This record gives sequence, C-alpha cells and structure tokens, in this order.
Amino acid sequence: MNDCLFCKIIKGEIPSKKIYEDETVYVFEDINPTAPIHYLVIPKEHISRLDEVNESNSAVISHIYEVIAKLSKEMDIKDGFRVVSNCGETAGQSVFHIHFHMLAGRDFGWPAG
Ligand code: AMP
Ligand code: ZN
Repeated sequence: MNDCLFCKIIKGEIPSKKIYEDETVYVFEDINPTAPIHYLVIPKEHISRLDEVNESNSAVISHIYEVIAKLSKEMDIKDGFRVVSNCGETAGQSVFHIHFHMLAGRDFGWPAG
C-alpha cells in the first residue's frame, strides 16, 4: 500500500511523534488531538478497517490491546481513558489503515457523538 499515509509514517517517510514501537505495532501522537493525550495505535501490517479483521490477522489486534494496557499503566491514567476505532466513512474514518485512538486526560461523554 504505497499510497497509505500510515504505512508511510511507519516507514518514516512522513514524520510522526513516536510514542512506542515494537515488531508489529506503532504508536504516535495524533496531529490534531481531541484530548490532552491522543495517541494513534496502529498495526505495521496494512489492514484497511475494523471489518477486515479475521482469524488470520486478529493476533495483532489482540497485541494492540496489550500495548494500550501497558501504555495506560506507564502513563498512570488508571482514572480512565477511551479507545475508539472508526470503521467506514459514516463512522468518521478518514484514514484507511486501521487505527485505535487512545484518548485520555479529560472527561468523555456517552453516548459517543
Ligand atoms: P479517523 O478519522 O478515525 O480515520 O482518524 C484519523 C486520524 O489521523 C485523525 O484523528 C487525524 O487527526 C490523524 N492524522 C491524519 N494525518 C496525520 C498525521 N500525518 N500524523 C498524525 N495523525 C494524523
Ligand atoms: Zn497502510
């Protein structure tokens, strides 16, 4: 996926503020934060959207949640945080490389907008 923005960020072709990286996951700051902490957690493997998760690629999604839990402990945000993955344009997805918004540092309303 040469034209994918987040694949280019993973490869370092587009700059990002990296928070964490391992063999399968990359975490960086959202360029347009909507909370005091707003990270994007993405797999290095290109998966376009949440409804493309299946038994052959779901291990990385499980790992993403392990990374999110680890980061939350390191950041000491046990008071609460929110994880969001918009799937499809109607839900607000604008970058079609699956990503998990990790949001913290303010109160969050429910139901989500
Ligand atoms: P979504 O609208 O759920 O697809 O989320 C895409 C997110 O990517 C938005 O919150 C954008 O602010 C963010 N974003 C877009 N371009 C960049 C970039 N170059 N670096 C960091 N975040 C970005
Ligand atoms: Zn991609």
